[in-house]
Amino acid sequence: MMKEMLTNKILTGLRDAEFERLMPLLQPVSLSAGERLSEAGETMRFIYFPESAVLSCQAEMQDGKSAEVGIIGFEGMAGITAVVGSLPAVNSLNVSVGGSALRVSTDDFKREILRGDGVQQLLLAYAAEYITQISQRSACAVFHTTEQRFAVWLLLLMDRVKDEVIQITQERIAEHLGVRRAGVTVAAGAMQDAGAISYRRGNLRVNDRQMLEMIACECYGTLAVGRQQTTYM
Ligand SMILES: [Zn+2]
Repeated sequence: MMKEMLTNKILTGLRDAEFERLMPLLQPVSLSAGERLSEAGETMRFIYFPESAVLSCQAEMQDGKSAEVGIIGFEGMAGITAVVGSLPAVNSLNVSVGGSALRVSTDDFKREILRGDGVQQLLLAYAAEYITQISQRSACAVFHTTEQRFAVWLLLLMDRVKDEVIQITQERIAEHLGVRRAGVTVAAGAMQDAGAISYRRGNLRVNDRQMLEMIACECYGTLAVGRQQTTYM
């Protein structure tokens, strides 16, 4: 496996010597939409570096309700809390958009890799970016409408996938946003009327990205991939 063939920003940001040490421990995996990679309350066994897959970190409530608290694609990694601490995960990890990723066992990663200065800087930079995402989205959930949050979520997703069409049911969108399905139906209808998206038989297509950005609240401006100040060495 060559570093140049990868798109994950953390893996490609590693120094060559660090990447070579990590390479034999990395396992390519193909992930399917809807797959559950780890449960809340468990220690994460693997760290995931998405390539084309997009992952969703979800807070789970006792009554079965859930909401996405973080979205992770090629710009980052899933399991940052398991790497910097040893507490059980408070959230579950799920696959939003199927595709490829690389994974490494958490123990191996901590034992072999964490010593490097370059890796530590990279992980801290990503941790800051991820904390920014979680804090902005939690304020967004308090202040902004379902339609605005739907638009932000869709833009965050589209920043991480190559296709303009994603296959997703309204039920799953409602789970991501932590709202009722009826709320998603209304918001999707309004966004469709505005010409921003079309939604047919579970296929969601973004027709007008600029329109989607106008519907979204200010939160997207803070969170768009590449707009954050993080610099990977
Ligand atoms: Zn917002």
